[in-house]
Amino acid sequence: NFTTRASAQPLKNAEELIDSVETFIFDCDGVIWKGDSLIDGVPETLDMLRSKGKRLVFVTNNSTKSRKQYGKKFETLGLSVSEEEIFASSFAAAAYLKSIDFPKDKKVYVIGEEGILKELELAGFQYLGGPEDGGKKIELKPGFLMEHDESVGAVVVGFDRNFNYYKIQYGTLCIRENPGCLFIATNRDAVTHLTDAQEWAGGGSMVGALSGSTQREPLVVGKPSTFMMDYLANEFNILKSQICMVGDRLDTDILFGQNGGCKTLLVLSGVTSLPTLQCPNNSIQPDFYTNKISDFLSLKAA
Ligand code: PLP
Ligand code: CA
Repeated sequence: NFTTRASAQPLKNAEELIDSVETFIFDCDGVIWKGDSLIDGVPETLDMLRSKGKRLVFVTNNSTKSRKQYGKKFETLGLSVSEEEIFASSFAAAAYLKSIDFPKDKKVYVIGEEGILKELELAGFQYLGGPEDGGKKIELKPGFLMEHDESVGAVVVGFDRNFNYYKIQYGTLCIRENPGCLFIATNRDAVTHLTDAQEWAGGGSMVGALSGSTQREPLVVGKPSTFMMDYLANEFNILKSQICMVGDRLDTDILFGQNGGCKTLLVLSGVTSLPTLQCPNNSIQPDFYTNKISDFLSLKAA
């Protein structure tokens, strides 16, 4: 009982696509860069789009850095992108709490890395946890009872390379012992490519642990949820039908664009291969696909 979309078409006329929208939202890893290396032809492509007056927005599910830290990364790669054009899932977590007027006298327990802490701090929220709890161990003696801060009103979970049982138990107590406590996930990416040698457990693995222990589903603020799309459409006053979402991942980027009613373009410069896109088991079909964004520079109608 679902509607199937037409199969994705190879992008043949980039000019037509470019002319049909006002804004391009670019996913970052797999589209702009791969790890710390810039993907071929990106600076020229972004320059061309800006020269045509297109608004460019950059969205990443990687919560380990703040908006400001991503600004530095763009700069290091030689790209002129301002912080206001960057929407990381770390920023989205803080923006969400702001949007619901999360009380400033309550605290946020963070399972995640520095990016989330920096964004919460900038937004004026009190927090605990994060990297500080990375080395903590629990000694289970008879009768041991873990204390937790009862003023925690939200648990934010993102990718965390120092995830441990202490953090799971602390977050679990906050959520289970306070039915009003929010459970927010920056993203649920199952795997990520920390090295190009293999797939590594992504932010979804940490979120899954907490959802397993609390038997609650988190509110996701990153892709593919509509929060960031609504937020940036509102921020820039743009119509979603005037956006093309460009990404390398079907279940985050392409779904994010489709959930927002945007045009969608899959690039094959990241995690999705053409056989994966065209596999009969795959139900997520973008409007178009192409190898990399610099194809924009060469693809014109025949
Ligand atoms: N989460 C982590 C921890 C990552 O390392 C990455 C990619 O490097 C992502 C998420 C996905 O990032 P993006 O949304 O930019 O593809
Ligand atoms: Ca990506």
